[in-house]
Amino acid sequence: MNLKSVITALTLLFISALSIAQTVIPQVEPGVSYKLAQYRQANISNVIYTLDFDIPSDKTADIIASESISLNLKTISQPLQIDFKQPVSRINSIEVNNKKIPAVVESEHIIVAAQNLHTGKNQIDIKFTTGDQSLNRNDEYLYTLFVPDRARTVFPCFDQPDIKANYLLTLRIPSEWHVLANGKMIDSVKQGDKTVYKFNKSDKLSTYQFAFEAGKFTSVKQMVGNLPAEFLYRETDTTKIKLSVAPIFTAHKDAISFLEQWTGIPYPFQKVGFVAIPDFQFGGMEHPGAVQYKASALFLDDGATKDMIISRANLLSHETAHMWFGDMVTMRWFNDVWMKEVFANFMADKITEKVMGSETFNLKFLQGHYQGAYGIDRTLGANPIRQQLDNLQDAGSLYGGIIYDKAPIMMRQLELLMGKEKFRAGIQQYLKKYAYGNATWNDLIAILSKQTTADLYTWNKVWVNQPGRPVFDYNIAYAGNKISNFTITQHPEFGEKRIWPQSFSVALVYADHQQEIPVNMTGETVNIRQAAGLAKPSYIIFNANGIGYGLFPGDKNGVASMFQLKNPLQRASMYISAYENMLADRYFKPAELLNTFSVGLAEEKEETNLKMLTGYISSIYWKFILPATRKELAPGLEAAIWDAMEKQEQPNAKKILFSCYQDIYLTPMAGGRIYATWKQKKPPVGIKLTEDDYTSLALSIALKSDTATNVLKLQEDRITNADRRKRLEFLMPALSTDVQERDAFNASLSERKKRQKEAWVTTALSYLHHPLRQQTSEKYLLKSLELVEEVQRTGDVFFPQNWLGAIFGSYQDKEAAAIVRKFLADHPNYNPKLRAKILQNTDNLYRAQSLL
Ligand SMILES: [Zn+2]
Repeated sequence: MNLKSVITALTLLFISALSIAQTVIPQVEPGVSYKLAQYRQANISNVIYTLDFDIPSDKTADIIASESISLNLKTISQPLQIDFKQPVSRINSIEVNNKKIPAVVESEHIIVAAQNLHTGKNQIDIKFTTGDQSLNRNDEYLYTLFVPDRARTVFPCFDQPDIKANYLLTLRIPSEWHVLANGKMIDSVKQGDKTVYKFNKSDKLSTYQFAFEAGKFTSVKQMVGNLPAEFLYRETDTTKIKLSVAPIFTAHKDAISFLEQWTGIPYPFQKVGFVAIPDFQFGGMEHPGAVQYKASALFLDDGATKDMIISRANLLSHETAHMWFGDMVTMRWFNDVWMKEVFANFMADKITEKVMGSETFNLKFLQGHYQGAYGIDRTLGANPIRQQLDNLQDAGSLYGGIIYDKAPIMMRQLELLMGKEKFRAGIQQYLKKYAYGNATWNDLIAILSKQTTADLYTWNKVWVNQPGRPVFDYNIAYAGNKISNFTITQHPEFGEKRIWPQSFSVALVYADHQQEIPVNMTGETVNIRQAAGLAKPSYIIFNANGIGYGLFPGDKNGVASMFQLKNPLQRASMYISAYENMLADRYFKPAELLNTFSVGLAEEKEETNLKMLTGYISSIYWKFILPATRKELAPGLEAAIWDAMEKQEQPNAKKILFSCYQDIYLTPMAGGRIYATWKQKKPPVGIKLTEDDYTSLALSIALKSDTATNVLKLQEDRITNADRRKRLEFLMPALSTDVQERDAFNASLSERKKRQKEAWVTTALSYLHHPLRQQTSEKYLLKSLELVEEVQRTGDVFFPQNWLGAIFGSYQDKEAAAIVRKFLADHPNYNPKLRAKILQNTDNLYRAQSLL
């Protein structure tokens, strides 16, 4: 959509980065500008950071640190800029080449005058107090999280991915704590009430990959293949621990052995280590030897549904794949951050394929990526996979559904275009060539181009450098009862004319069989010659194999019988198409599709498809049905869900439907049922509910009932795990029946401290702005928009997206739409990437204006 950025990205493709690097002299400005990064990359090498942190158990006490940076300089014509985003008062002393100099900090950089430096080897010694922003300090533990440019908030460094360095780390921590870092532990000595840990010199790492975690954790050590591995966690539920620890180690082992075999490169780092962090702000983060995971994604009990188990396997594979893709070979600049994410997802999918078989893989790929990709790509805020990035401080805004979901779809189409073996050979070459270094997407395309005759540069332009998706239409003509002509066309949903070369299949469905025909969609119109002469089908399934990308036609003749299709992949593909077409106001109206989908609840036997159907039902019900109509529909829908729950035989299918019931219920009768279930801890027959499920029920009751005021208090008393009790305590005011208390909670989010636990804030916001509470929360919208820039500046990478999604996710009225429009009109010079994020997250709101 943004033509300017497209042109610039294309131009950059043909200009050698090096030629710029040596001529542009960087100014001193906040953040890490691309110019500064290029200049430093060309001038600085052989960096070693020797770091010593003294960490008190009191989370508010200062962390005193010392650092020695050893580096080689090619020229000293310019002052050296070392990134440190802290006031100068935090620097206690600086020595450059053993000579004390005054500390000068300008626009987030320590400035070292050229006269103190010499070409060749230099050493800079700094004593300082760390910043806390990215140390995630809690009462009993802390963990670093520096991606993309937060290392500079903690210690002075060259905070850019292409100055890789070795780290020599010493940590002084309370003796009862456990610790993990990138390097192997080589020494520990008790000193008073602390223990001093020394770690082996790390492998070469970018600053964002450097990490440590320390605190009151349980430690488990096991071998993963022939590698020693350590796992730290704070979980206390014995069932979860018993059922989860072994599968977590096994999944790492499976992932490592697959990746070693597929890439032809042994595990590239000195050790395996990972930690489960309560309410971690991401799913996981791939620091070599010190990987972080969200605890709730790892620890599952016997109430876990299939999609939770698949998600866990996928998450563990994703972070493990990063050891090769991202950690060993790293993007040169964060504009290519999508490359590490696409490969991590792509390889995680391959591991799933190996472990679970290709049928499960194909289905999971469709379910896992298409909704996320379309969710952004259909909006006016859609971004291309590859975006321009002028300053690292804006890198957070690059993350989202396009990187995580569209990119794997694109990569799979690329693999199809090249052929699996040639694709793999190209990737192996790329990994080997750039091991422990950095590379760009253009470096990879150059290698892949040598493996194929296909025109990858043209292909790249539409799939990678431009946003958007195609809309497919068709024309079919019959002579008598036979097909005489069948053509499929594509055109862009928005923007300039272009075509997306891709393959997929269509299936002609007859009473007793199907005829599946491959389509190689290389142009604007493709004639399906294979169909000519075939009998007229009952209906047609477009994108029958689920690998095509775009808005496919729906065949209304198929709707009544789609739940009877034998192949779960075809059913999933039809559900996605139906929903996407409803949003585009083609073929289906919201209420009609809601009704159609609710029929499938009893008939859909594939658990992950059922989960998808209930997700769509929730989305249509809350976002695209007016409140008055919703009230009319509720009794019938509640009955249909309950009835389906009783008819379904598998415990997990029943559980998915129970959650759906909990989500949509509005009548007093259903409220009574839910309350009794929670109060007596007695779930419907065949369903098992865990402590987390009961917490979630208590939250639903608090949201939907004005009388059950003490439910959350009682639930708080029931929770035994301290971390989970704190979470509920945080959420309670957001669910208060007292509007003033909710107002005060919302106002408190203006303070950064209150937003520290991002996962909690996101959950609280989604309750605060739930459709049933919007009458009193709509007044928060403007202030929430005004906070977006600060949220981006102070929060972690996914927070702006999660913030906006939780707030705007289910508004539909014209007042809300007007607030957003006015805000955007009043801020014509607003950061374009954040503007895009607002447009992405308010797309449903805009659509609701015309659909309702
Ligand atoms: Zn990742």
